[in-house]
Amino acid sequence: MYLSLYLLAAAAIIIVGYVAGVALMRRYRRYEGEMTLTCPENREHVVVELNPKRALAGEIAGIDDLALRACTRWPERAGCDEGCLDQVGADPHALLARVRIAEWFEHKECVLCGREFKRVEDQEHQPAFLDRDGALIASTDVDPRRLDIVLATHLPVCWNCYSAETFRRRHPELVVESA
Ligand SMILES: [Zn+2]
Repeated sequence: MYLSLYLLAAAAIIIVGYVAGVALMRRYRRYEGEMTLTCPENREHVVVELNPKRALAGEIAGIDDLALRACTRWPERAGCDEGCLDQVGADPHALLARVRIAEWFEHKECVLCGREFKRVEDQEHQPAFLDRDGALIASTDVDPRRLDIVLATHLPVCWNCYSAETFRRRHPELVVESA
């Protein structure tokens, strides 16, 4: 009788721990990734990453505690005062390049097959961009500093079409077009 109670309690603790862990990971992930800010020192675009652990700890403590863990001007400028963080508003998540890309794709249609995009954030197979000259670029390969211009000038291509088209261009001799 006691044994089954212990087992029940242990199972409950594991389940609660698991659920809490998943929720924390999700909050952590909201701060994780690259974003573009302007360096106050030279007024040029830099790609930075927030320190997700510290941001999450701050969120739990109810304070804004943002710090950088990476910047394209490091290591030369390592130890700077991280003044660019003033540009991060109340919603750092919305500034992340992968989030901006996901929002841009949502409800658009692939220009090659017409399929509508659902939310692509954190999906394993990421879509791609097609430029005016017909060049394809994986959305994960875009330099965040060029994101504004890419989103303004490129067309959406789904992962299926991107992989098929990339294969066709690399190995035209292997592709048999159906009549
Ligand atoms: Zn497609």
